[in-house]
Amino acid sequence: MKLIDPIVYVEKYDGAEITRFLGNMASTSYNYEFDIAKDNYKDLLLKCIKNGHTSVLEHKSITIKMIGDNGVYKDIERHRYASFSNERYTRFEHQDELEIIKPVHIEEGTDFYKEWENCIKKLDESFQTMKKEGATAEQLRMIAPYSVAVEMNMTCDITEWRHILSLRCSSHTHPAIRQLLIPVLVKFKQDMPELFGDIDYDMEFPKEKYAKILPLEIV
Ligand SMILES: Cc1cc2nc3c(=O)[nH]c(=O)nc-3n(C[C@H](O)[C@H](O)[C@H](O)COP(=O)(O)OP(=O)(O)OC[C@H]3O[C@@H](n4cnc5c(N)ncnc54)[C@H](O)[C@@H]3O)c2cc1C
Repeated sequence: MKLIDPIVYVEKYDGAEITRFLGNMASTSYNYEFDIAKDNYKDLLLKCIKNGHTSVLEHKSITIKMIGDNGVYKDIERHRYASFSNERYTRFEHQDELEIIKPVHIEEGTDFYKEWENCIKKLDESFQTMKKEGATAEQLRMIAPYSVAVEMNMTCDITEWRHILSLRCSSHTHPAIRQLLIPVLVKFKQDMPELFGDIDYDMEFPKEKYAKILPLEIV
């Protein structure tokens, strides 16, 4: 088996431009009391968010690509206003061994880790045996555990990002999801403070465990 760290690639965007664009969209609702040329669109956006007038934030989207475990994908795909494209299980035809995401919340060296590792190794042996004997991708997927690595693309508008990040960066959410999405929220907060500044997250989650964030390069 091949152990890998989770990773997030974020589409290149200009946070100031997204904020300005959404400020313009918001100003339409206040045509008679707000002059986009003179008044501060950032304050207008803050007012819209405070009052729940968040449809104005649906006019811009951001895409990320995550390599995380299958459990993350199962949970995050529940969000109905996000768009996803996931790697197909035909990936197993091209792999000689299972690609496994290192568990963020089972510490290496502990008894639980040893148990988890033994279990995954056994699955990997079965994966390799079945492959040698000609199993199809559809058959191989039946032994893929939650820990198996999955590549997933996810696109949301700003309203849905706010909703998802507020739910999925809290301490109630599985650590594997927090590991991927807290660094995304921290980046969004830095780049678009008016749009994401009010969203809380689990500050106790160790920073050294945050997934690495890289730009999503399109070739
Ligand atoms: C901590 C946590 C624990 C969870 N535990 C479980 C669990 O044990 N079992 C389980 O099955 N799921 C669980 N979930 C998933 C959860 O129930 C939701 O399915 C998931 O978070 C998607 O949330 P959502 O519907 O708000 O989001 P989205 O699908 O992104 O929708 C956004 C918003 O649109 C509105 N909306 C969308 N569709 C409808 C609709 N049909 N009718 C009315 N309003 C709609 C709602 O206001 C909704 O909040 C858990 C989620 C979290 C965060």
